[in-house]
Amino acid sequence: MNFDLTQEQQMIKKTIKEFADEVVAPGAVDRDRSKEFPADIFKQLSDMGMMGLPFDEKYGGAGADTTSFAIVTEELSRACASTGITYSAHISLGGAPLNLFGTEQQKQRYLTPICKGESFGAFGLTEPNAGSDAGGTQTRATEDGDDWVINGSKVYITNASYANHLALTAITGMEGGKKEISAIIVPTDAEGFTIIDNYEKMGLNASNTTELVLDNVRVPKENLLGKRGQGFKQFMATLDGGRIGIAAMGVGIAQAAFDRALRYSKERKQFGKTLSEFQITQFKLADMAMKIELARNMVYKAAWLKDQGRPFTKEASMAKLYASEISMEVADEAIQIHGGYGYMKEYEVERYMRDAKLLEIGEGTSEIQRMVIARQIGC
Ligand SMILES: Cc1cc2nc3c(=O)[nH]c(=O)nc-3n(C[C@H](O)[C@H](O)[C@H](O)COP(=O)(O)OP(=O)(O)OC[C@H]3O[C@@H](n4cnc5c(N)ncnc54)[C@H](O)[C@@H]3O)c2cc1C
Repeated sequence: MNFDLTQEQQMIKKTIKEFADEVVAPGAVDRDRSKEFPADIFKQLSDMGMMGLPFDEKYGGAGADTTSFAIVTEELSRACASTGITYSAHISLGGAPLNLFGTEQQKQRYLTPICKGESFGAFGLTEPNAGSDAGGTQTRATEDGDDWVINGSKVYITNASYANHLALTAITGMEGGKKEISAIIVPTDAEGFTIIDNYEKMGLNASNTTELVLDNVRVPKENLLGKRGQGFKQFMATLDGGRIGIAAMGVGIAQAAFDRALRYSKERKQFGKTLSEFQITQFKLADMAMKIELARNMVYKAAWLKDQGRPFTKEASMAKLYASEISMEVADEAIQIHGGYGYMKEYEVERYMRDAKLLEIGEGTSEIQRMVIARQIGC
């Protein structure tokens, strides 16, 4: 067993850490207020070859592994979780299903622009009446000559305003009284396709979260992604990988909250002593550090299993569940250590908590993760 990062992973970590500190972190507070999408940061990430990091070089990717993707997601999220989720969704929800299930032609056409940073990746699963129960999809695609004609809507879709195309799920028929759900690639400039970007969110304000409305959107039949009727399964498999990204975000946010709490505890004096001299503060920080260490190890293990081509559903779900919950706990404790200042936006720790909350909801809520784990352990 070897707990060291490889040379390549270490190099990626060093590069992205510097970039996160020097380029991403400085504007994070302003972007949280202005809700401005970090387009310039992504231009630079694209120049650095990060936008297709784990995908094959023949599609413009960097051929790196899932651990490297997790490292980049953690570091970006440590600096700015809005940037982190944009990146995570771009790779693990947008690029991944094309990479996993696309034909060679589809990969050339749709994965390559994602890897080159010419299009953001996005993933359309959730609907107004189909959230945790994603199989409750009501969007329909009907056959008409050589085309699919799609009608329906999707909610809370990350990155769609900046995507040239995205894969979404739709009912393509009925089989034995059951819905046949397929995945279809839809260009976002198709006639009848409207993307609405006006949610008022609690956090992750600089990320793009959208509603999609499809009104007789016509796409060629060749835009079917993977096998007809396998769309739901394909999207669930995609989410297994996506959960590694959400877990890495959790580690990044928790690390940022911890770093600030530790620093503040050494500066702030009460009763003639710094907070860090009180044992109760030391114990809080010790617990925070322990949870972060554990969560990071869980992320790396799930990523490693995925790269070995071994089953990783349970580990990804556990990492996602644990990292998102400790991210909330650590952010909460960081606010507590800051006292009244922690409640003020100026000190940034409150942003960590607002951003971390999404991790307990997106890509399967904590309740759904417990259901996934329960199934995996044979309940
Ligand atoms: C900022 C943001 C970005 C997102 N990005 C995307 C994206 O890019 N693509 C995409 O497709 N979706 C995206 N989502 C959607 C997200 O995945 C869903 O919000 C999530 O899966 C939960 O679905 P829901 O909101 O409909 O909640 P519901 O399913 O209505 O759940 C409500 C509550 O009921 C609980 N619950 C539901 N069923 C059960 C059960 N069987 N047992 C116990 N408890 C249960 C849930 O855990 C939750 O606490 C995003 C959401 C947000 C907020």
